[in-house]
Amino acid sequence: MKAARLLMACSLLALAGAAGAEDLKTAIDKDYPSLDSLYKTLHAHPELSTKEVETSKRLAEEAKAAGFTVTDHVGGTGIVAVLKNGPGPTVMIRTDMDALPVEEATGLPYASHVKAKNARGEDIGVMHACGHDIHMTVWTGVARRMAAEKDKWSGTLVMIGQPAEETIGGADAMLKDGLFTRFPRPDFNLAIHDTNGLPAGQVGYVPGFVLAASDSVDIEVKGIGGHGAYPQATKDPVVLASYIVVALQTLVSRNNDPFDPAVVTVGSIHGGTKHNIIGSSVHLQLSVRSYKEETRKKLLEGIKRIAVNEGRAFGLPEDKLPEVIFSDENTPATYNNPDLVARLVPALQRELGTDNVVKTDPIMASEDFSRYGLVDPKIPSAILWVGGVEAKKWAATTDKTTIPSLHSALWAPDPEPTIKTGIVTLVSAAQDLLKK
Ligand code: ZN
Ligand code: ZN
Repeated sequence: MKAARLLMACSLLALAGAAGAEDLKTAIDKDYPSLDSLYKTLHAHPELSTKEVETSKRLAEEAKAAGFTVTDHVGGTGIVAVLKNGPGPTVMIRTDMDALPVEEATGLPYASHVKAKNARGEDIGVMHACGHDIHMTVWTGVARRMAAEKDKWSGTLVMIGQPAEETIGGADAMLKDGLFTRFPRPDFNLAIHDTNGLPAGQVGYVPGFVLAASDSVDIEVKGIGGHGAYPQATKDPVVLASYIVVALQTLVSRNNDPFDPAVVTVGSIHGGTKHNIIGSSVHLQLSVRSYKEETRKKLLEGIKRIAVNEGRAFGLPEDKLPEVIFSDENTPATYNNPDLVARLVPALQRELGTDNVVKTDPIMASEDFSRYGLVDPKIPSAILWVGGVEAKKWAATTDKTTIPSLHSALWAPDPEPTIKTGIVTLVSAAQDLLKK
């Protein structure tokens, strides 16, 4: 059922090819009704990380219909669409495809009602709460425009649909599956991400570091359990875990240079079963954010030092000291090549107006888009922010922190101006990099 609905609108895109010399915005306006329907279909049918089966099929169909050569199952559900158009550089444009385990609360007519099972077998809501459906719709619009305007550029365009951005494994999986060896190796990598930090119609850019490195860390705090009334016969892991949580706060507040951003968050703490039982373990889950590699190392080493030595101070034997596990769920900081950004900004200003292209600050969220730029020799890369907040709402909101953020069950970007601005952004960037 889902597959049929996702595929239904494909034939519409054949209408999009003939714009040629038309003005970019007029061409996008003409194409918009079909993109709007694609967006709402994608929004209503989100799929979780690594499960983007129907989503990637739909994107592959869209790219094929626009004239690209498409390879599927690259790094799992990933797709690679290539359009060769004479001599010149190779530009890669990425969209992510996955949704989040969030139950949508926007009340929109095209809201998601999709449920999936989590690792414990419980029903959870699924929602495009990060706007990857916006990115995919923009990606499709860009593919159509670039194919229709082949007379305006020369070179090779590689457009990829990446799985599993939210679990930060998709970029790595695609690279390991030969993204840069089986397909043309890019000279430039581009991506966009929607944001609640700008109104729809505006684009944000950050030269240099734009998104932080992210590491997930688990700490298994062991103890010696027993009766809640006889603490003298136990080593209470709840108290030890509490000491560890508090001591971890000093990594950023006391050990780290205040001018060097870092975050250590204990996002989850679980232990014990009942009021009067001292349990034998507590599990902590941490998220660690940083920009510099040396800072990242210092934080990770510090977490281990604190956990293990708090265990020693607590009097635990060496074989029962807390165990620190560094997860594979990590990604390096995302770096926007400053020369590339400086080159793209005037091209964007020409199309969108100077006031609509704004410099923004780096943030502590993370993206595995970072990985594409780090493959040796490094490839100049840039991810740009595309504002998603309805312009009227933006203007009327004094305290911008009250606007629902990405990953919120209430995140509802204003589709039309957001998608159109995204397409203008990536088409003008790609055509500038591939100009004849
Ligand atoms: Zn996200
Ligand atoms: Zn995202």
